[in-house]
Amino acid sequence: MTGVVAQALQQAVSCAGHAYIGGQWVQVCGTERLAVINPANGTLVTEIVAGNSADLDRAVSAARVAFPAFAASPVADRLALLERIHALILERAEPLAQALTLEMGAAITHARSAHVPFAAAHVQAAIDVLRDYDFLTMRGTTAIVREPIGVAGLITPWNWPLYQITAKVAPALAAGCTVVLKPSELSPVSALMFAQIVHDARAPAGVFNLVNGTGSEVGAGMAAHRDIDMISITGSNRAGVLVAQGAAPTVKRVTQELGGKSPNVLLPDADFVRVVPLGVMAAFRNVGQSCSAPTRMIVPRARLAETEELARKTVADIVVGNPADDATTLGPISNSAQFQRVQAMIAVGMEEGARLVCGGPGSPEGLDDGLYARPTVFSDVSSAMRIAQEEIFGPVLVIIPYDTVDEAVAIANDTVFGLGGHVQGTDLDLARSVALRIRTGQVHINHPAWDAHAPFGGYKRSGNGREYGVFGFEEFLEVKAILGFA
Ligand code: NAD
Repeated sequence: MTGVVAQALQQAVSCAGHAYIGGQWVQVCGTERLAVINPANGTLVTEIVAGNSADLDRAVSAARVAFPAFAASPVADRLALLERIHALILERAEPLAQALTLEMGAAITHARSAHVPFAAAHVQAAIDVLRDYDFLTMRGTTAIVREPIGVAGLITPWNWPLYQITAKVAPALAAGCTVVLKPSELSPVSALMFAQIVHDARAPAGVFNLVNGTGSEVGAGMAAHRDIDMISITGSNRAGVLVAQGAAPTVKRVTQELGGKSPNVLLPDADFVRVVPLGVMAAFRNVGQSCSAPTRMIVPRARLAETEELARKTVADIVVGNPADDATTLGPISNSAQFQRVQAMIAVGMEEGARLVCGGPGSPEGLDDGLYARPTVFSDVSSAMRIAQEEIFGPVLVIIPYDTVDEAVAIANDTVFGLGGHVQGTDLDLARSVALRIRTGQVHINHPAWDAHAPFGGYKRSGNGREYGVFGFEEFLEVKAILGFA
């Protein structure tokens, strides 16, 4: 690590006892200390001091005071602010990547090539949307005006920490909202660095505020807060439901990006040699800790053996190891609760009688010190099994056979979730027709490139509302009709 990177990390860690409120770092009133553990080796990265309701009140009141002026600020000013934030993320890309590796075990090459640039891409997408957006449109003599909803409370998870933060903060600021962010208590270091970036980008005081703390105290406090107008949460279904319940008495808008169990339908004419390895790696990306990971590979029964062989070969080339090492494909699971969950679900799969193609319980040889799981593929899985129904959030792929395309679609939709979906096939008309029948917020045909403007969010229990691009931006707006305007 170079001196500059170490210094940036040190600066972030030195803010760990603070909240960022009203344009400055302030000592928190809370006293509970929460350890941030490096999952690669169990060492202490830092301790944050959890905020309490008094800290939250201070942050909300700063955001409330800043709201009228920021809501009325010229679009050009908000564009300039977002452009400065974007430039600073790129300038500090290496310290941010190092922070992600330390706090949640992202392989450093993955942090550099995905976590940080995609986080910057969300800011760029908000800039693109804001530049062309019409806040006032006419319908006959009626004006339709879009206005920022107010103070937005943003609650983010630990699996893509920085990416989830910019996916919310950038459109909220673009819309003219002021925000209070509560990042995951398990991955607060990149969030502290992001707060410093917003500060250095000269955001007006109170426009952006950060309070660290637990979900049960700060998160629940935000949901119930009478001076927060909207909550956007990304996290587990459990937390999403609790937030909606907590928010109900104040009738605030709630958008939720929650869990998933996304299908990947391989049609009989798919190019298996290409799409099986891509499908395995998409499922295991970020150690399988992605809400939209395609963790159910649905394949023609006649191609099961071939799929298993291709999957086994793909997994054999994965390098599990120290995330700080450039050669590593997959680092550890991000925290011990998640590691236990993954191990328990691998045991469930074995008890349910699914056939292990590779991987299994425990850690890869020689990697007993950190929270390393073995990339695991189960085959001959039936859709009713728990490993086919429950989100595992780790490197565990299930292969489910089908006999007809209708059956493949039925299996794809046989879930309470509806976040991501994939279809692979050479006949594009057939692939498109299957994509149209899958009930999820996104479907990818033949592994296309990521699109920062494509709306992202869930059907069914995967959530409400959309993020990214113009759809994500509009979540932060109210609609006002002024009749007789013309
Ligand atoms: P989590 O629900 O435990 O925590 C997410 C955030 O919610 C954290 O900041 C946490 O402190 C907060 N929180 C927890 N309880 C709360 C409560 N009662 N009130 C308010 N806030 C509360 O989830 P996690 O373990 O950090 O993240 C993993 C989960 O997130 C997975 O289920 C995954 O599928 C989901 N996820 C979804 C998306 C998406 O876009 N759909 C993206 C990433 C992760």
